[in-house]
This record gives sequence, C-alpha cells and structure tokens, in this order.
Amino acid sequence: MEERNLLSEDLSTGYWIWDMKGDTPFDDPGLLAQLGYPSDALLNQPFSAGKLVDEDRIKFHEKISEHIAAKGSKPFVQEVRFRFPDKIKYFMFTGGITKLDALNQPKLMNGIFMDTTPRKELHRDFLVMKDFLDKTNEVARVGGWELDMATEKVTWSPVTKKIFGVGMDYVPVRGSASTFFKEGKDRDTLVAAFHDAVGKNIPYDLELQIVNAQGKEVWTRTIGQPEFENGVCVRLYGVFQDITERKKHEEEALMKKDLMEKFISSAPVSIAMFDTNMNYIAASQIWMASYNIDVNSIIGKSHFEVFSEIPDEWRDYLKRCLNGESFTKEKDHFVRRDGKEEWIRWDIRPWYESADKIGGVIMFTELITDRVLAQQELIKAKEEAEEAVIAKSRFLSVMSHEIRTPMNAVIGFTEILLENPREDQLESLRPLKFSADNLMVIINDILSLSKLEEGMVSFEEVPFSPAELVQNIYLSNKQFAITKKIGLNVSADTMADVKVLGDPVRLGQIIINLVNNAIKFTKQGAVTITLKKVDDKPDTTSVYFEVSDTGIGIPDDKQDYIFEIFTQASSSTTRHFGGTGLGLAICKRLVELMGGNIKVRSKMGEGSAFSFVLKMKKVEAEAPVVKAEPKQVFQGDAMSLKGVSLLIAEDNPLNVLLLKKYLAQWGVECEVAENGQMAIDMMRNLIFDIVLMDLQMPEMDGYEATKAIRELNGDYYKTVPIIALTASMIDDIKQKTAEAGMNDCVGKPFNYIDLYDKITYYVQKSRGLLAAG
Ligand code: ADP
Repeated sequence: MEERNLLSEDLSTGYWIWDMKGDTPFDDPGLLAQLGYPSDALLNQPFSAGKLVDEDRIKFHEKISEHIAAKGSKPFVQEVRFRFPDKIKYFMFTGGITKLDALNQPKLMNGIFMDTTPRKELHRDFLVMKDFLDKTNEVARVGGWELDMATEKVTWSPVTKKIFGVGMDYVPVRGSASTFFKEGKDRDTLVAAFHDAVGKNIPYDLELQIVNAQGKEVWTRTIGQPEFENGVCVRLYGVFQDITERKKHEEEALMKKDLMEKFISSAPVSIAMFDTNMNYIAASQIWMASYNIDVNSIIGKSHFEVFSEIPDEWRDYLKRCLNGESFTKEKDHFVRRDGKEEWIRWDIRPWYESADKIGGVIMFTELITDRVLAQQELIKAKEEAEEAVIAKSRFLSVMSHEIRTPMNAVIGFTEILLENPREDQLESLRPLKFSADNLMVIINDILSLSKLEEGMVSFEEVPFSPAELVQNIYLSNKQFAITKKIGLNVSADTMADVKVLGDPVRLGQIIINLVNNAIKFTKQGAVTITLKKVDDKPDTTSVYFEVSDTGIGIPDDKQDYIFEIFTQASSSTTRHFGGTGLGLAICKRLVELMGGNIKVRSKMGEGSAFSFVLKMKKVEAEAPVVKAEPKQVFQGDAMSLKGVSLLIAEDNPLNVLLLKKYLAQWGVECEVAENGQMAIDMMRNLIFDIVLMDLQMPEMDGYEATKAIRELNGDYYKTVPIIALTASMIDDIKQKTAEAGMNDCVGKPFNYIDLYDKITYYVQKSRGLLAAG
C-alpha cells in the first residue's frame, strides 16, 4: 500500500498495480482508498460497482484489450470518471503490462494514476496537465502533448520537445507538429488521423517517421486522444515517444527472421520454423514432400492443426522448447493418421528474436522408416541365417549319428567276411570295405565340423608332451606308410623334454589328418613330421609343427582354397584318393581356435608342407603327464580270451550278431540282454567278468541300467567292469558315462582291436593279473 504513494505525498497521484484478475483494477479496496473513497463507502461489494462511470468502464476495457493485443508495446493511457458521494472525480491512469506468464499471457499491469479533477474544475489548468505528462514521462519515458481547441494553445512536454529536436524555450502552435513528420505517407497519415480525431472523436495510435529540427530521422509513436463536449472537440491530448531503437531492433529481428525463413525454405533437409504459437513461418521443400503437404496450405497454420496425430509427449517437448530447452532424438516412432508406422529422427530448438526473447521453434526431422525397416530385415535375416546354420549342424549331427549305427554293422561284417573270403567275393569285398571306411571318415568329419560351427567345441588344458604325442602318431601310421612303400620320419630333437598345457586329443586330430593326407598324396619319397621350439619364454613355449611330404603337390592357385569345406585341389581327387575336402577345413578351424594359423607351402610334383605355430603354457618337468591309456598289443588270436564271460546289453540285432562273431573268435562266452531292465535282471542271477552296455536302448537305457546295477547290494555290482557302447563321439559322452558309473567306452562301428584291448585290460585288472604282471 505504501508503495503506491511513492510518487507523491498527497493523494492526487499514486501508483497502481493490477494482477489482471477480476473486472478492473478498481475492485481493489486498497486502490479505491487511495483514490480517496472514505472507508465506509468501501464496505459494499463489489467495490467498484456503481462507483465507476459505466461508459468509462467500457472504454477502460477497450483500451486494455488494445494494449494486450499490441502485446503491451503501447503504453496504456485512460482517463476514468469515478462517482464520489458528493461529486464526479477524474483520474488519469497510465502504465502498461510488466509481466507475462509462461503462456505469454499478461499477468501484471502497473503504472501511475493522477487525480485530474482539479484541472477539470479549474477549467483546463495546463500546468496540471504538464505536471502529469512530465510524471508519465518519468515512468514510461514518453513525451506528452495537448491542444486546446478553443484557445488553440499547444503544450509539449520536455520529452516531446526533445524528440522534435527543439529547445526547451520553443513555443509550439497548432500545426507545428505535423511539419516535422516526414513528407509524404507519414505526414499524410498523421494529418488524416488528426482530422478524424477532432472531427469524429476517433483516437489514434500511429508509428511514423519524423525529421526533427536537427534533420535527424526519428521513428516515433504518437497517440492522440480527443475529448468531446456536446459533440464538439474541446481538447486533443496524447503521448509522443521515440521508438527508433525499438524499430531498429524490430527491423533487425525481421531481417534475421526473414533470413532464417529463406534458409529454411531452401534447406536440403526436412526442416520447419514456427512462431511461439507453433504456427508455421516457413518449411523446406523436403518437409513438404516428407509429409505430403503443400507449402501454401500450412504457412500461418498451427502445427497441431496440420498434424492432429502428434502425441502428447511431443507436444510436451515443444512446450518446453518454447521455454528455452532443446531436444534431440535419434530414433523415435509415430503412427500417421492413416495408421502407417513411421520412424523418425528429430531435433527441436528455440530460435531467438533477440538475445532474451524466444521467437518460436525450429524443428528438424528425418524419416528413417526405410532405414529402420532395412535394419530390422537385416537383423531378421541374420537371425534366420544363424538359425539355419544351427539347424543344419543339428541335422548333420543327428544324421551322422544315426548313420553310424548301421555303418557299424556294414564295416563289421565286411571285416568278418574279409577274414576268410571266398575267392570270387574278394573283388567286391575290398571296394566295399574301402567305401565303408571312407564313408565313416566323412561322417566323423561332418560331425566334427558341425560341432565347430555350432561353437560346441571346448578345449582341455592338461599337461602333455608334444614329442610323445607325435611319436604315437608316428607309430600308428607307420604301417600305412610301409604299405605305400614310402618313409615316415619324425624330427623332434629340441622338444624331447618339453611338457606343455593343452589339448593333446585335438592337436593329435590335426596332426593325424595332415599325416594321413601326406601319406595319401605321396607315391614315393617320405613324409616327415617336424616339431621345433621356436620361442622359449619363462612361462610359455611356441612350438612349430610341420608335416611335409614329397608327394603330388598343390597348384598355386588352389593353395588358398583347400582349407574351405568340401574343396579339393582337383576334381579327380576323390576318384583317385577318396576324401571329401573336410579334413583341412577342420584342421584350420581347430588350429585357429588354439590360437595359431595353418599355412601351406607346396610345389607341383615336388611335395607339400603344412605348418603352424602354437604358443603353449609350459609345465614343470616333474608334473604328472597324462599318458595314453595302457594299451595291450593286439593279440586277437583265436580263443585268447577263453573263459571270459560277458554280458551284451544291446537292442540292435545286427550289432549283437557282429559282436558275437568277434567274441566267439576270441573264445568269450556271452549272454544278451535286449534292454537295460533285462540286463539288471540277468545280473542278479549270473556272474559276468565284464558288461558291454549300449547307451540307447528301449525301456531302460544304458545310463539308468548302470546306475541301478551299481546300487545293487554286493561288491560284485560295484566293481564289475561296465563298458559303454556308443555311436556318439566318445568325447561327448565321456563325462556322462563316468557319472553313471561306467568304466570305459567303445565306439560304434567297433574297432575290434580297441574292443579286444579293453576287454583284455579290464578282465585282467579285475582278476588282479595286471597288478601282478
Ligand atoms: P580330403 O583329403 O578329404 O579331400 P582335405 O580337406 O584334407 O580333404 O584336403 C583338401 C584337398 O587338399 C585334397 O583333396 C587335396 O587336393 C589337397 N591336399 C591336402 N593335403 C595334400 C597333400 N599333402 N598333398 C597334396 N594335396 C593335398
């Protein structure tokens, strides 16, 4: 309340403030009290009712509306008449909007008021007016002027004089002002407005240029307010303001906006510019094309009208953007009115009219639906391809597994027939055996490869001696080399004492493959396995492995291809040498998984050398080294296992027949159980030296049967050797068979040497002979 009196000690002037709530500021009893109403007159509600002259109330509203429409850029000036108990009093209100809310709506108005009644009463006391205008000037930095129609006296406030560029002693007369207005449009406009004001009681508010007394061009704003009595204009007064600075800013802003508009319209991306109401100011060609709209139809229109489907989330972003925030989204999703799903990348940021005034939003969008869909397709295709690879591997692994069982019978019976062949059958039996063996190699290769592709191969880390491993390979291939009348050599001098950590089975698989190839493709000369320490560190050793031959060699242009699957150097290879082209593909993958890289050097007609280097962890020389299982030298002589009793648990009659043939030759007596349950039942009644247990059987499989047997009462059931018969890769089932309580495994098709060795080993062991001998 005190604040309101800052301008004046007495009640004739004051400060008014209005929060824009209610009808007028005059509902505020504080303000009414300031105007001079006695407190008892304020008891009735609403405060201003009946106090304000109705016409003035209407006018007050009109002026406020104009002021708001001009966004507060015009100062507000209005004289208002109040009914006091004894008389009418005049008050001049001036001021403006000083605060906007978040939505740019006016929130607070303030200014000064002045009791102009004395002036009225004293019949146009110009000094009062001057005083008032000077005070107005103090607040709003505007000049004032007045023309008394009767006396033709003109009054200019000091600010007005300053704007016109005249001295303080200058005495204006009627018509003085118009001479300063720029000749032509500006002066004509002013003169016409002046005539309308004094003739038709029409107030004016114009922005015009003057050329002041100093010859300087000045942008001015001039407001003229006529006052009529009995239909005749008695007075014209108004406000005069230098708006050159504002105009300059406006022009600059306009130019800036214009430039932005031009830039946006021609930008080679999808971009649009909006004002603070989100109405289109400009949009690029690509924007139009992206959203299928016509530029003429959207400029000036609201974005939300053009795209009614805009989700609330985006509306929210835009609202925040109009308050100064920027947002970017790399991938967003929306649904068009027609239901089409789209993907979009977007960026919104405010643009500024001046340093602190946001003019609206600039929005950049990029439709990325095609890209996203293509990406999704790619991902789908990749997943399908991966699934297909896995499905293919599974299929191959199941198929090869299924084929191994009947192959067991084919190979086994061929071997039995070959032991004692009829002369006329020999010609057919040899190729039959060759083909069956070859088929078995292919099946095993496919199994290995499909497992490598599925990533199902894991490597062991056990201590072993590479030199010993190579020596074993040498021993088992020597016979093959001898039959081909070629030499087989091992050179491993530097490796004699070296023990390393690694997977001897896989490494063996690689070297055996290379040695087999070398022997296969060599007609004369020799095959050499070389092993060399190439780098020795405290903890690791790098070992160079090489298998070289003096064979047919590989053409230069084929040397890269032979490592691919199903690839052979020549199309006639299979015919001459057999094979499928899988071996080297498997070797390459295995070597890579062990951290090496297989290479080939070869010259046609001179020979080939396959080599790789593996870096392996060293093991202390004393550490126990995994030794190959104790092997008996094959002594499959007739009746050499005489007296051994054996139970065959196997449902496949062909396999049973085959086993029985071998066992009979060795003098083994055997019983047959067709499933696991039968095996248990038979073992309750009979004592066997050894059990051969098929893993896959109807009713009860080998795992369950073994577990049940091991749980039976009595030492015999705990110790009787049980050997699994399996068509699976031994490596895959080793752990599971051990867990079930089995002692060992024999693969199908039967390698009868292996079978003989194992039966002999376990029988001797359980009879205590091994320990003794
Ligand atoms: P496979 O031996 O079953 O055909 P591999 O993948 O082991 O399949 O070998 C692919 C091809 O590489 C062979 O068919 C042969 O043409 C060529 N090749 C492999 N090792 C040798 C070698 N030591 N000497 C000559 N050619 C070889």
